[in-house]
Amino acid sequence: MGESADIASGSSSLRSAMEEEEEPKSKKVKVDSAPAFGVYHTRLENRLGEILRCTVCLDLPKTSVYQCTNGHLMCAACFTHILADGRLRDSTPACPSCRVEISKSTSTRNLAVEKAVSELPTTCDFCSESFPRSQLVSHQSDACPKRTVKCSYVLIGCKWTGPACTQNSHESECEFPNMTGKTVLDNVTAKQEEVNVEKRRTRDVMALFSLDKFTFSDIQFKPYRTDDFVPRLFYETSRFSAFNQQWVLRLKVLPDNIEPWQSNQRSMAYQLVLKTRPSSSMRISFFLQPGPFSELKELQPHPRWYEFTTEDEPGAWETEFEALPLESTHECNRLLSAKLISLRVFLFHHGK
Ligand SMILES: [Zn+2]
Ligand SMILES: [Zn+2]
Ligand SMILES: [Zn+2]
Ligand SMILES: [Zn+2]
Repeated sequence: MGESADIASGSSSLRSAMEEEEEPKSKKVKVDSAPAFGVYHTRLENRLGEILRCTVCLDLPKTSVYQCTNGHLMCAACFTHILADGRLRDSTPACPSCRVEISKSTSTRNLAVEKAVSELPTTCDFCSESFPRSQLVSHQSDACPKRTVKCSYVLIGCKWTGPACTQNSHESECEFPNMTGKTVLDNVTAKQEEVNVEKRRTRDVMALFSLDKFTFSDIQFKPYRTDDFVPRLFYETSRFSAFNQQWVLRLKVLPDNIEPWQSNQRSMAYQLVLKTRPSSSMRISFFLQPGPFSELKELQPHPRWYEFTTEDEPGAWETEFEALPLESTHECNRLLSAKLISLRVFLFHHGK
C-alpha cells in the first residue's frame, strides 16, 4: 500500500518535472518569434483582402470573380446584378469604378483571384475560428462544434435545435423518446402529410404525361419595352406551334408597381397566350422547365391549367400572369443578365 503510494507520488513528481522542463521552451518560442510572424501574416492577409474584394459590395467573393477590361474586380452576384439593372433600365451596363462598358463577352473571369481568395482565412459563422475559405463549407456543415443541428428525435416531433456540442446533453433529457405511442403517431402523421403534398405534386405532373396529347417547345424570351410614358421591360417568345394552334409566352419582372430596380427583391411571372382561334374550346396544362440552353439548372414544375374558349373576347386567350418559381432574386438577375432567356415549355391538351 505504502509502496504503491510512493510509486504513484514518484511518477507524478517525475511528470511535473518534465512539464516544468518543457514549459519554458514553448514560452520561449512564443516570446521570440511567434508575434512577429503572426503580425506579418495578419497584415498580409488583411492587405490581400483589401485588394481582392469586390469593388461593388466590398466583400470577398465566395464564388466566381469577374473583371472589367481595366481589371476592376466584381463578385458574380454584383456582376449579374449590374447586367440585370442595365437590362431593366435599357442602359449600357458599366463598371462602377471606371464606367467602361461591361458585358458577358468583354468581361472575363479572374481565376487567379478566385484561387487566392479561396486561400485567405475567413471566420466561421458559428464558432468565429479562422479557416481557409476552401475549408469553411465543410467545417460549417460537418465539423464545427457550434453549428446548429436538430435533435435526433425530429422525426417524431422534437423541434429542438441548438449547437452540435449540446446535442448529446439535450437528447439525454429529450422527452420525445418517452412520449406515448399516440403522440408519436400524431407527430409522424403530420410529417407524413408534408411528404404527401410533395408526392401528390409529383404524381400530378407525371399524370399529365399520360394524356393523349402533349408536346414541348424550346423557347427563347426576347426583351421588349412597352410604349408607356416610362417604358417597361417585358419578354416575349416568337410564335410556336402546339396542337395545331399558334402560341406565345410572355414574361414580366416583378414588382411592376414601382421601378423594378428600386426593389432588391425581384421575381418573374409568365403567361401563355393563344394567337389563333381554336375550333373548339381547349383545356391546356403547362409548365416551364430549364431547356438545353438555359441559365437555370432547376425549376420546380408547377403545372397550371387554363380553358381557351372559341370566344374572341379581350383577354380570353391569355392566362393570368403567374410566378415563375425562381429560388431567389439572384436567379432572377441571372436570367435578366443574359441576352435571351431560354426555357422549355411543356403543354398538355386535356381532350374531350
Ligand atoms: Zn460584390
Ligand atoms: Zn473598371
Ligand atoms: Zn466553426
Ligand atoms: Zn429532442
